[in-house]
Amino acid sequence: MPWEQLSDDQLEIRDLVRTIARERIAPRAAEIDASHEFPWDVVELFREHGIFGLLFDERHGGTGTGTLLALVAIEEVSKVCATSGLILAVQELGSLAVKLAGSEEQQARFLPKLASGESLAAYALTEAGSGSDSAAMRTTARRGDDEYVLDGSKRFITNASVASVYTVFAKTDPEAGHPGISAFVVEADTPGFEVARLEPKMGISGSTTGELLFDDARIPAANLLGDEGEGFKIAMRVLDRSRPGVAAQGLGIAQGATDYALEYARTRETMGKPIAEHQLVAAKLADMETACEAARGLLYRFGRMVDEGASEAELTKASAMAKLYCTDTAMWVTTEAVQVLGGYGYIKEYPVERMMRDAKITQIYEGTNEIQRLVIAREMLKESRAFLLAGVG
Ligand SMILES: Cc1cc2nc3c(=O)[nH]c(=O)nc-3n(C[C@H](O)[C@H](O)[C@H](O)COP(=O)(O)OP(=O)(O)OC[C@H]3O[C@@H](n4cnc5c(N)ncnc54)[C@H](O)[C@@H]3O)c2cc1C
Repeated sequence: MPWEQLSDDQLEIRDLVRTIARERIAPRAAEIDASHEFPWDVVELFREHGIFGLLFDERHGGTGTGTLLALVAIEEVSKVCATSGLILAVQELGSLAVKLAGSEEQQARFLPKLASGESLAAYALTEAGSGSDSAAMRTTARRGDDEYVLDGSKRFITNASVASVYTVFAKTDPEAGHPGISAFVVEADTPGFEVARLEPKMGISGSTTGELLFDDARIPAANLLGDEGEGFKIAMRVLDRSRPGVAAQGLGIAQGATDYALEYARTRETMGKPIAEHQLVAAKLADMETACEAARGLLYRFGRMVDEGASEAELTKASAMAKLYCTDTAMWVTTEAVQVLGGYGYIKEYPVERMMRDAKITQIYEGTNEIQRLVIAREMLKESRAFLLAGVG
């Protein structure tokens, strides 16, 4: 038996997800990419097999199997289809604010439908003028009697038009920076809320990315998450836990591309032998595999940290490192995979072309990799290591 990082129970679930991904999703991946249509059939498949439940606790209708296994599921699906892997990652992203900051009543109202997949979720932080600098947001939430009135817009929101529950960040105090931001749940049928347009994109073509408009959109005061002014903290706590979902997507894409390039290199012959036996190609395969395994080490470590109760402060750096390394690996490895296939790598008949386009976004969303580097360095500067240098000449 090969040595495995996962327990027998975890392997059983991983293998179930792997089988579904290979047998049911892989044959659809090229079509999803070409059609640019959201794959509702994949959502249905996840619903039927209880895959959304992997992201939720038992008390909310989930499996309670933990973060590591949720990341493994995203990795397995992303190996064959990054758009489908993203459906799971964004279900987590869009649900996390309710999990982390929602009251019992809010959790009971929203989480069971998200755990079954009856509802899909979205997370709306970015605006046209505020991406990396989220405190510069302009969307406002004015308090009324029993309601908040939202005005403004959000840009680049994944699952726009397919989600029924949106976590939205808006300023309850427009003059303040971070402390002026609050978090809300906005339901898709809220009057005054609409999805204005969907963006055509380089990759993850089946995923919707849209602009949200709020024009006097009235939501119940009961949909405020946490207290007024806590929104920025909630947004960052969510990202600490959700970024590894993007890391898992990146790792899945990278491993999928490595596996494909390996099989291709085994059978494609030049100069009388399989290209895998040419040392320059063999070295590429070795470097691709090593990068994937190193990335997996960071990702699974994060999953174990959450499952074993690590403090939130510790998660920030571990999450940013996993996101940074897994997604830089995705971009680099998929570019190498295209190279291993030569001209065939560049044409759409072969999946590494799609994988390379899909990989790019993982370096950008949920905080660009420049921002991840800033976060990691900031956390490092909080650490005191002087004692490690004692006596070093
Ligand atoms: C397909 C897609 C899906 C997305 N899904 C979502 C979603 O579901 N929810 C959501 O809220 N957002 C989403 N986003 C938005 C995404 O998170 C932002 O695009 C991203 O955070 C970068 O913000 P920006 O595009 O405004 O770039 P900017 O912030 O304008 O950055 C431009 C460049 O400058 C760099 N930069 C900026 N500030 C610094 C700095 N201080 N130091 C060094 N470099 C810096 C950046 O790294 C980047 O290279 C999505 C975006 C895309 C394209």
